[in-house]
Amino acid sequence: MTTISTIENDPAGGQPPPAALLRAEPDRNCPLCPRLSSFREAARAREPGWFNSPVPSFGDPDGRLLIVGLAPGLQGANRTGRPFTGDFAGDLLYATLIEYGFAKGIYQARPDDGLTLVDCRISNAVRCVPPQNKPLPVEINTCRPFLTATTGTMSKLRAIVALGRVAHESMLKVLGLRSSAAPFAHGAIHQAGALKLYDSYHCSRYNTNTGVLTPKMFRSVFAKVRADLG
Ligand code: SF4
Repeated sequence: MTTISTIENDPAGGQPPPAALLRAEPDRNCPLCPRLSSFREAARAREPGWFNSPVPSFGDPDGRLLIVGLAPGLQGANRTGRPFTGDFAGDLLYATLIEYGFAKGIYQARPDDGLTLVDCRISNAVRCVPPQNKPLPVEINTCRPFLTATTGTMSKLRAIVALGRVAHESMLKVLGLRSSAAPFAHGAIHQAGALKLYDSYHCSRYNTNTGVLTPKMFRSVFAKVRADLG
């Protein structure tokens, strides 16, 4: 059953970040997370043909839908430079977006496959690949201003899909909302003013292989978004 919660803005948490932080895309050598910066440099030395930089958002800046993932996968977005491109999670995500009209073209796991997003953008809570796909809390906090800026540049934004608990919690902070009023649950919808935040389990290989997330469960989230956006 769908849970819909209505949540109020937290005045303290809802303050806009300083103007200096209002940049949607970090530099390719962003030094703000020392551990991730070192990991990135090691990957550049080992795999010079890979992207190995903070992965920029992909899609329509004027879209009404923003999808927020966790972080680039080592051999997925970190390799190809496009969110969710080149690893298992992208197979399910892009197939679902095409099915519900949020993408068009044929996804071929390459950034030059011609796939385009429609009324939709994809970003990550953390822009650099973390070891073992696990960013530290301090890294999630440090990278949040880029997510805040990304959200702030989308003037027509109406719907946000958070893929996993980390993306959900980070989006709550971006929106200045209390996590106690909007707990993460697959299929939950949290109303925040004119925005709706939709929760989904992350479409990772682990979650789908273990049955935590089935394609049907994943599609149901985007079916709700499509029904709400029209
Ligand atoms: S994760 Fe974000 S803040 Fe940290 S180094 Fe990468 S781009 Fe910079």
